[in-house]
Amino acid sequence: MENTINWSELSFGYMKTDYNVRCYYRNGRWGELEVSSSETVSIHMSATCLHYGQEAFEGLKAFRGKDGRIRVFRMDENAKRLQSSARGIMMAEFPVEKFEEAVCKAVRLNERFIPPYGSGASLYIRPLLVGMGALIGVRPADEYMFLVFVTPVGPYFKTGFRPAPVCMMRAFDRAAPNGTGTYKVGGNYAASLTAGNKAQENGYVAVLYLDPKEKLYLDECGPANFFAIRNNTYITPASNSILPSITNKSLTQLAADMGLKVERRPVPVSELGTFEEAAECGTAAVITPISRIDDLDENRSYIYSKDGKPGPTCEKLYNKLVAIQTGDEPDPYGWVKIIE
Ligand SMILES: *Cc1c(COP(=O)(O)O)cnc(C)c1O
Repeated sequence: MENTINWSELSFGYMKTDYNVRCYYRNGRWGELEVSSSETVSIHMSATCLHYGQEAFEGLKAFRGKDGRIRVFRMDENAKRLQSSARGIMMAEFPVEKFEEAVCKAVRLNERFIPPYGSGASLYIRPLLVGMGALIGVRPADEYMFLVFVTPVGPYFKTGFRPAPVCMMRAFDRAAPNGTGTYKVGGNYAASLTAGNKAQENGYVAVLYLDPKEKLYLDECGPANFFAIRNNTYITPASNSILPSITNKSLTQLAADMGLKVERRPVPVSELGTFEEAAECGTAAVITPISRIDDLDENRSYIYSKDGKPGPTCEKLYNKLVAIQTGDEPDPYGWVKIIE
């Protein structure tokens, strides 16, 4: 079949591809990987994912390089994080090797949907793990489904690699102090919809959440981690209610190797006025520089970009990470897996 996709106009949305890969956990063990061309799943109406939110997901990307080869970024980290999420909400853990095999299979089977080099677009990979067992009492399911589908995507934020404003609103939390904030579970996203929607209605790309216990420290930006640059230092919050971002982990390494100091520690709100650059980071957008943080409760603004341009350190980190992902620069870290 001919491709008629306009790669440069892709949004961060769902587009039907040819195949997805599934695997079922029954009778205490995972079965074989199955290939499906159906976009739907059949689920018992009493499945735990539907009632009690027993669901976790992942997000990663594949890129087509200048050399035509397909590269997937740090999928072992996504596999391990899905296992951590599974433990967090008592689901069966999906084996790392099987995860990698399923991802490679889904990418290969949908090769015609991988955007060409230089388009700025990529193939987004979405693995899911859901509780399938029929239960009414609140208990972990005894059956699970792992599924991975792919869809070509353009940049996550319409503004692209340009600074965008975020806001702070203390009336909302995305996760509880000792809750599920460190796991990539759908429930955290349901909890963030009201605040996220409110922010968007007011022209912000994201909410910068504060620590849910004291509201004194910075947590993260909805679906992306937060970092700031000051005095040649990469500063990112340590907290037990944020999701450990693989992009952030990668940027931390790149920053250190570029000669920046790295600080991962509680970051008090009172430091916001001292940063030279601020940004959010995650697989979807890589880095979104923050132009301005509006504290809507205190009626204060912190400005990080006045000219519509990203700060120099954000730009350097962004270019370096994207170059490794697409194969433009060597990958000394072993982050990239080439799919043959
Ligand atoms: C997925 C996610 C991120 C970003 O993680 P990456 O591994 O960099 O994509 C950040 N915060 C939350 C809440 C997330 O769910």
